Amino acid sequence: MPELAAYAVADGNSKGRLHPEPPPKVRSEFQRDRDRIVHSTAFRRLEYKTQVFVIHEGDLCRTRLTHSIEVAQIARSVARGLHLNDDLAEAIALAHDLGHTPFGHAGQDALNECMRDHGGFEHNLQSLRIVDHLEERYGAFDGLNLMYETREGILKHCPRPQAAALGALGRRFLDDRRPSLEAQICNLADEVAYNNHDVDDGLRAGLIGLDELQEISLFARHADETRAAFPGIAGRRLIHETIRRMIDAQVTDLLAESAQRIAAAAPASLADIHVAPPLIAFTAAMHDENLALKRFLRNGLYCHERVLRETDQGRRVIIDLYRAFSAEPRLLPPQCQAAAVGEGPRAIADYIAGMTDRYALREHSRLFALAES
Ligand code: MG
Repeated sequence: MPELAAYAVADGNSKGRLHPEPPPKVRSEFQRDRDRIVHSTAFRRLEYKTQVFVIHEGDLCRTRLTHSIEVAQIARSVARGLHLNDDLAEAIALAHDLGHTPFGHAGQDALNECMRDHGGFEHNLQSLRIVDHLEERYGAFDGLNLMYETREGILKHCPRPQAAALGALGRRFLDDRRPSLEAQICNLADEVAYNNHDVDDGLRAGLIGLDELQEISLFARHADETRAAFPGIAGRRLIHETIRRMIDAQVTDLLAESAQRIAAAAPASLADIHVAPPLIAFTAAMHDENLALKRFLRNGLYCHERVLRETDQGRRVIIDLYRAFSAEPRLLPPQCQAAAVGEGPRAIADYIAGMTDRYALREHSRLFALAES
C-alpha cells in the first residue's frame, strides 16, 4: 500500500468501532469493514434492485450491485492517486446504496410518503440503519459494527432533525463540517459512475440516441476524439471507447483539481479536513459539463415514458404492500411481526425496503392476485 497522507483516515487516527473488538490479525480495520459489507445480506440484495431500469429490461443493464462495484473502482483509483485510504473509499462505495428500496427512487419516494407520519423514509439513513442495526451476523452486537469513518461516509446527507438524534455521527450536519476526503471522493465517484453507465444503458435500451448525445459537449468531445483516432469506428465499440474516455477525463480532472485544492489548503491532519471547505472537486469547466450531461439524462432517460411507466408500477406495489401490512401485521413474516410489535411502522418499512424488485412483485401478487383476477 502506498504511504498515506497525514490527513488520510487510518487505523491509528480513526474514532473506531461502537463495540470494541480486538484488531484484525492480517487485514487493516477498513479492509475488515469492506469484507463485512461484502458478506452482508443487504449487499447481495443489491443484485436484484433497480438502478434506473427495472431488472427485466435486459440482462446487461446496471443493477445496484454492479453500480456499487463501479463506484468502488473509481473511488479506489482517486483515493490511491491522492494517497488516501482506498480501503475506506471502497468500503463506503460498496455500502453507499444498501438502503435503497426496490424500484429505484420511485420506490423510495413511495415509502417516504407511506411513512410521512412516522419519521419518513430516506435511503441514506436506511443504509446506516442496515449496517448499524438490521444485519444479523454477529453474536455480540446488532449490525456490522463498522468503523466510525465508514459510517460517516455512508451517511452522505441527513436532515437536521434526524442529525440531532444521531449523536456524534449527525453532529457534522449541524456544525457544517466536512466528512473525510475518502467520503467526499465516494460522492463524486458515484456521479462519475452513474453519469457514464446511464449513457451506456440508455443507448443500449434505445431510449436515448447518439445524435442527441452529440449535443452534449462531454460526450461529443470524446466521441469526436474516438472517431479521429479510429476512423470508421461505429456501434458498440464507438460507444464504449467514448465512455471509457469520458470516465478517464473525469477522473483525471478530479485528481488534478483535488490535488491542487489540497495543496492550497495544506491540511496537516484529519481534523483539518473536517473544517476545510470541500477539497475533492472537479474543475469548474468539468463541473459544468457534468451538469449538462446530468440534465440530459434526467430529461431524456430518467423521465422517459418507458422508465416512468415501470417505476410508477413499482411505486404502486410499494404503497399496496405498506397498506396491506399496516392494516394486518399478521401478514408479515414471523420475524418481522415481532419487530412490528416493538417498532410499528418502522419495521414494516424495513421489511419493504429490504425487498428486491422481484421479491416485492411476488409478494404483491401473493397478496393481491385473487383480488385482481
Ligand atoms: Mg449510487
